[in-house]
Amino acid sequence: MNKPKILILGAGYGGLTTTVKLQKKLGVNDAHITLVNKHDYHYEATWLHENAAGTLHHDRSRVKIKDLLNSSKVNFVQDTVVAIKPDEKKVELENDVLDYDYLVVALGFEAATFGIPGLIENAFTIGSINQARLIKQHIEYNFAMYNNEPEPKQERLNIVVGGGGFTGIEFLGEIANRIPQLCEEYDIDRSKVRIINVEGAPSILPGFDPQLIEYAMNSLESRGVEFKLGALLKECKPDGIVIEKDGELEEIPTVTTIWAAGVRANSLVEKSGLEHNRGKVEVKPDLRAPSHEDVFVVGDCALIWNKDNDRPYPPTAQIAMQEASVCAHNLAALVKGGELDNFEFNNMGTVASLGHGDAIGVILGDKKLFGWSASVMKKIIDNRSLFKIGGIGLVLKKGKFNIF
Ligand SMILES: Cc1cc2nc3c(=O)[nH]c(=O)nc-3n(C[C@H](O)[C@H](O)[C@H](O)COP(=O)(O)OP(=O)(O)OC[C@H]3O[C@@H](n4cnc5c(N)ncnc54)[C@H](O)[C@@H]3O)c2cc1C
Repeated sequence: MNKPKILILGAGYGGLTTTVKLQKKLGVNDAHITLVNKHDYHYEATWLHENAAGTLHHDRSRVKIKDLLNSSKVNFVQDTVVAIKPDEKKVELENDVLDYDYLVVALGFEAATFGIPGLIENAFTIGSINQARLIKQHIEYNFAMYNNEPEPKQERLNIVVGGGGFTGIEFLGEIANRIPQLCEEYDIDRSKVRIINVEGAPSILPGFDPQLIEYAMNSLESRGVEFKLGALLKECKPDGIVIEKDGELEEIPTVTTIWAAGVRANSLVEKSGLEHNRGKVEVKPDLRAPSHEDVFVVGDCALIWNKDNDRPYPPTAQIAMQEASVCAHNLAALVKGGELDNFEFNNMGTVASLGHGDAIGVILGDKKLFGWSASVMKKIIDNRSLFKIGGIGLVLKKGKFNIF
């Protein structure tokens, strides 16, 4: 009997969770399962802001993919996907071409730069271990350079974060905690360092409870973060940015702009010929692409409508992992026979970190959390994510237990 070929693209929250769940559901003789990922490691994307700020070493956020897979059931291929050809049932990699009977697209997100001049060339984004490590080293280098020039340059000490959403705010919390250590290490007066958040909306963390937003702003401001709300980033240059607020232009000297104001689905999806809605595949309830029955799409590449507020669900790790469970179930059902499930989001709550020991969040529907209790909850969420892909062993190896 021919074993069906299941090809999974991307070993992030969506793709890796699908794979580890599928390898438990299928026997060695049921299917050929292949997982393709650019790196030989999975990273916890929701921890990258800590790696970028230098408050957590990047090795804590990543885990070797092969350590999580049953090699008798899953073939891992380290390669980069360059094209998805659903009409030919083929995927082109940099070094190979693979065919499939069932495909799972889980290639995650990339930064959306909205055509802002200079952003691609001059800003940093927090989207991978490589990018996070670069940001950390860039900030350290500029602090080190500051006292090594005849005329100290203020742009080396100004850190701008574009976007007051989840990623931007979580990075601000970490960098605000790291700056005093950097100042001590590089003999820099703390008052010379500026951390500036530029957000186009009138408030940070749109959609969050106003009381939690106020708490977050007070916490970050008390650690030296300046907010420029209702301000649009107009241009990003190698040594500064231009923003517009209330019709006035302002230039801020900086060599460090972190762009955290928007993500889009991996652009390979848009180029693939799969039917899409602004780059994402608006999947059917069983998570298959409407135009291709043999293609599942999960995580940030998928779009699912939230009927309660008539808006798409935001791209989150929580949704990606829940989708992965349904995707694994449905693949097993297609291979072995059985009913396909429909995806339904089970909102477990949302917690945003504000740096070690501080956070805000809402759990159990409407229970608000602030400060230490929220930060403990955040660590529980982070550890739970490890548990889902690697069990208790991975939690003990990489988990976060520093709750004080
Ligand atoms: C700093 C930060 C903080 C966040 N905080 C939270 C949070 O607190 N809670 C929450 O729910 N969400 C959070 N998110 C969002 C969350 O990380 C994403 O929604 C989630 O990672 C999406 O999962 P995914 O599986 O779709 O993609 P990813 O986790 O991005 O995985 C995609 C995988 O595909 C690989 N890949 C990409 N392109 C290719 C290619 N061409 N070839 C081969 N492999 C490729 C990547 O290397 C990666 O391994 C945060 C994101 C960031 C950046």
